[in-house]
Amino acid sequence: MIGKLKVFNSLTRQKEEFIPLNPPHVGMYVCGPTVYSNVHLGNVRTFLSFDVVNRYLRFLGYKVRYVRNITDVGHLSDTGEDKISKKAKLDQLEPMEIVQMYTNDFHDVMLKFNAIPPDIEPSAIGHLMEQVEMTKKLIENGYAYESNGSVYFDVEKFHKENDNSYGALSGRKIEDLLSETRDLDGGSDKKSPLDFALWKKASPEHIMRWETEWSEGFPGWHLECSVMSTKYLGEEFDIHGGGMDLQFPHHECEIAQNCGSHGHGGARYWLHTNMLTVNGQKMSKSLGNSFLPRELISGDHELLNRGYSPMTIRFFMMQSHYASTLDFSNDALEAARKGYIRLANGMRTLRGMEWAEDEGELNKKQVEQINKICDNCYYAMNDDFNTALTIGHLFNLVKKVNSLHTGQLNFAEIGKEAFDRMKETFIGFSEDVLGLRIESDVDYKALIETILGEYKSAKFNRDFERVDKLRAELKAEGIIVKDMKDKIEWAFEE
Ligand code: AMP
Ligand code: ZN
Repeated sequence: MIGKLKVFNSLTRQKEEFIPLNPPHVGMYVCGPTVYSNVHLGNVRTFLSFDVVNRYLRFLGYKVRYVRNITDVGHLSDTGEDKISKKAKLDQLEPMEIVQMYTNDFHDVMLKFNAIPPDIEPSAIGHLMEQVEMTKKLIENGYAYESNGSVYFDVEKFHKENDNSYGALSGRKIEDLLSETRDLDGGSDKKSPLDFALWKKASPEHIMRWETEWSEGFPGWHLECSVMSTKYLGEEFDIHGGGMDLQFPHHECEIAQNCGSHGHGGARYWLHTNMLTVNGQKMSKSLGNSFLPRELISGDHELLNRGYSPMTIRFFMMQSHYASTLDFSNDALEAARKGYIRLANGMRTLRGMEWAEDEGELNKKQVEQINKICDNCYYAMNDDFNTALTIGHLFNLVKKVNSLHTGQLNFAEIGKEAFDRMKETFIGFSEDVLGLRIESDVDYKALIETILGEYKSAKFNRDFERVDKLRAELKAEGIIVKDMKDKIEWAFEE
């Protein structure tokens, strides 16, 4: 390992050296999607950021257990309805059909963008028992109370008895929160507007409901992540991640639930990704400014000049640090397309390049330069996963690769050791760490048609030697030319 990995911890608001609890094992929990609609590009940004965190930790040799949940119950919309229930009613489908449909979509999207699937993908409904258990524990410990069939977390009591810790993650003060929130209307079951639901009694029209000692109801959203992270990673674990918008109240409540039930906040390092924006505004389904990955890939959207390949989009996201906002625009995507092609060309060239004895002497300066660029890739990623800087260093390696390729630089000048290191580092960082792979956006059908055009004119000119050669070359690629009466067609060889 070169240098030390430092991560920005939202809990301490500092960049800290990353020291796992139980090396080489690392436990990482990331809040997954609420599966009531197709994931949009903003969601994708967050999940790809954590894909890179997972990839880099593995690249460094850690054995990561990556847990990312599926929220299939409990996440309420602005109108107070469960998002899955609401959509199921709207589409006249079973809630589980909605869950399955959008989970499938989410998986498809993540695969397209070459994200490594999590090691465990638990769902909230699959952990109802555990959620009921944690709720009981919180009541037992005096941090939760039952009211009219619902159970709420008592924020102020918890805050008082736990070093005034509610708000520590998001930097909020309980007094401010209290003055910001509207007073409870007479009909509320809560003691204080800050209290949040652990169990909610279902209204008669609510379709997702389970029987418990308190009522027929459903769990609160924050509870599932406390339960599933504890179950699979333990009461104390390494990393917890999610988008910045989850810091409050979701993660703040998660910490309170964890502390209230077993005395430990859960994760040691809290990582939050920043938002993908459109004209400076957060991309979000409710604001109506969201893009679906498939619209961006096909270019089928009024704001797009053309479609972009999944790797171009991935590269676009890697070009900024995960903690900065990233604004979506045609120009930025066009620039990313060029950048990705430059990197992919470097990958292709280097993959096909082997060390060869040639003329010249070892040039120490060249060797030093290559080693320095390789070290810089590590330093950049060690600096809180700075993918933007890493790409800059990879471009510097591409320059060396191209010089070798054109013969401006001889293999003898850099020596086998530096060459091997360069190849390993370049491929390791671009493919394993950044998760970029070579993809071709060349339209192969158009290419075949071009060759068939050549074939046709050779035939017309009665150049049969050329005709046979073209036919044989296409056959070698598995393509059969069919000479019809008045046209030429092609098919894949069976
Ligand atoms: P949701 O399904 O709404 O819970 O969101 C899933 C994840 O996407 C969460 O971690 C959110 O913080 C994140 N997210 C939502 N909108 C954006 C955005 N515009 N940019 C980046 N991440 C986002
Ligand atoms: Zn969560």
